[in-house]
Amino acid sequence: MSDQKDISLLQDVMARFTGYIGKRLPTDVIKKLEELRANEDAELAKVVYKSMAENQKRADELDRPCCQDTGVIQYFITTGANFPYLGKLEEVLKNATLEATKRAPLRHNAVETFIEKNTGTNTGSRIPWLDWEIIPDDDHCTIEVYMAGGGCSLPGAAKVLMPGQGYEGVNQFVFDVITSYGVNACPPLLVGVGVSTSVETAARLSKKAILRPVDSQHPNSDAAKMERLLEDGLNRVGLGPQGLGGNASVMGVNIESSARHPSTIGVAVSTGCWAHRRGAIRFAADLSYEILSHKGVVL
Ligand code: SF4
Repeated sequence: MSDQKDISLLQDVMARFTGYIGKRLPTDVIKKLEELRANEDAELAKVVYKSMAENQKRADELDRPCCQDTGVIQYFITTGANFPYLGKLEEVLKNATLEATKRAPLRHNAVETFIEKNTGTNTGSRIPWLDWEIIPDDDHCTIEVYMAGGGCSLPGAAKVLMPGQGYEGVNQFVFDVITSYGVNACPPLLVGVGVSTSVETAARLSKKAILRPVDSQHPNSDAAKMERLLEDGLNRVGLGPQGLGGNASVMGVNIESSARHPSTIGVAVSTGCWAHRRGAIRFAADLSYEILSHKGVVL
């Protein structure tokens, strides 16, 4: 049986970490934004990048969220089957969301579907959203927090292509989504592409793709090449920061894939905005923890 004191400690750490994610961008995103700013030529785009950097500085100084839309809270949990608090995690993360909403504070973003009422707590049916991966014979637990804002979730789309549409069909789908709706999502975007067997598997993988570091690569060399080609092609569209024109449209393109039915190509796109608020924390069985996504954090 897990000790109540330990559960309270886990809940407190997760409440503070969740609130923190709303205020400070992960190290890889900050680095990429600095790189894009340094490589920018358009005067207006330079001003926008400068105001993004100033926004980060002020959010830090004032200890406030760096965007008013702190999103719907989603937790992606990769846990060992032997992590001692596994059975308590759902309750812990719901309470952590309630606490972070009050303490950080976070904007109230959970509207109960069909009742059409904001719960006022950032919790509701199936919210915070939990995604689980269980690792056998392990007692660690990594929890990724993602703040799914309205604008950055809007371009999301999934479709099952005919097999003959091939990888060209995947590319076309990604371009159609980003050129039609990408501007709504506060570029430069981190584009996640899922290639799989059906809509829900592709959609889940596309979201997992934007949890990966910005400059990471798919382990398959052809998929990694496709990531680079999509990134180059989308940058040539020149959306620029906040869609006002500039050298880049995206921070990167990450693809995640699975084996699929021979008659289908499921494809999905998820987008992260310039204020891509995600974080990863890894707990050991004794609840000591390491923050993987942000350097130099003190919670
Ligand atoms: S898209 Fe991102 S930066 Fe833009 S309003 Fe939404 S959460 Fe904020």
